[in-house]
Amino acid sequence: MYVVRKWSVSRARFLVGLYQKFEGVLRALDALWLKIGYDRVEKPITFIEKNVKGLLFDCKMCGQCSLRDTGMSCPMNCPKELRNGPCGGVRSDGRCEVKPDMRCVWVEAYRGSQLVENSKSILFVRFPMDYRLRGRSSWLREVRKQRDKAFYEQADS
Ligand code: SF4
Repeated sequence: MYVVRKWSVSRARFLVGLYQKFEGVLRALDALWLKIGYDRVEKPITFIEKNVKGLLFDCKMCGQCSLRDTGMSCPMNCPKELRNGPCGGVRSDGRCEVKPDMRCVWVEAYRGSQLVENSKSILFVRFPMDYRLRGRSSWLREVRKQRDKAFYEQADS
């Protein structure tokens, strides 16, 4: 819902902090997810993620969440699904050229990112969409990514 989506951007700092804590819990449960099997937990976790993020961000379950970098404004709500900034057709009042009843998701992303302390990650270039991940859980993907990163860092040292 658009009103809730705008509310979430206004609370970007709080929601980023909350997500970091939540991710810590998910990571702490990594051994449990491994024991149960990531394939088995994917379905129930995806269901929860879809509903929670659907309500707060109009999430489209792209499977590669960028909310933390985009001030809690989901770039998949852009009619052109642009993940690296606005298209150039943004109206002078900040509204979308395709859907003038909403503000450009990137105008919102900038607003949200300004509320997040030390946030420069909106400037990072994001990879193109991997459509194979669509419909899958970004939460679980992040846990696995962090585990792999820790493993390789340990192997390098
Ligand atoms: S970036 Fe992807 S996973 Fe994150 S809220 Fe948007 S559609 Fe959902």
